[in-house]
Amino acid sequence: MYLKRIEVHGFKSFANKLQLEFDSGITAIVGPNGSGKSNIADAVRWVLGEQSAKQLRGSKMEDVIFSGTEMRKPLGYAYVALTIDNSDHKLPIDYEEVTVARRVYRSGESEYLINGTSCRLKDVQELFMDTGIGKEGYSMIGQGQIDKILSGKPEDRRELFDEAAGIVKFKRRKYEAEKNLEEERANLARVSDIISEIE
Ligand code: ATP
Repeated sequence: MYLKRIEVHGFKSFANKLQLEFDSGITAIVGPNGSGKSNIADAVRWVLGEQSAKQLRGSKMEDVIFSGTEMRKPLGYAYVALTIDNSDHKLPIDYEEVTVARRVYRSGESEYLINGTSCRLKDVQELFMDTGIGKEGYSMIGQGQIDKILSGKPEDRRELFDEAAGIVKFKRRKYEAEKNLEEERANLARVSDIISEIE
């Protein structure tokens, strides 16, 4: 599994449609200050479901949409698509190639897509769970993040190890099962009350 392609349109400084192809192995993005290198990393974070504008170096989510320059009018939406080579089927989906996309309009309307089909953020999160790729995954290490991990709380560090060990999805399922069980217990208690009232 490796990142094969990124398509960006209207995201931050990328007013024009941009398509970057990557090979397996190491790829470095180089360029002068302010040319948009970090914006590429932000695009990857964003399409994987980042909800915090601050993490994307903005103050509100609308800041990810191209805001215009002296020469060019602002755009009305931002779009990013990430294509992953899945020939080793590490992603639990029956496709050799998986494209995850996100689009947001200035009105706030937004959508996620997996291989062209509209989906929920939860579906994107579940697709990448335990692969290290998700927005909380260890595959994206930002500036200053290593320090934060080393000096952070043990519980926060534990989350990284859980992801690497591949147990996040089981923890999530356990949490959901416990929540359902709790609701069913409450229902059962209500039914018992009603029965005893009738008797
Ligand atoms: P450095 O090497 O200094 O870290 P960089 O190559 O990583 O720079 P970025 O931080 O990715 O550069 O890009 C910054 C540029 O993106 C700035 O010129 C900024 O004006 C532009 N930019 C950010 N958000 C938007 C937006 N919404 N619309 C238009 N331009 C934007």
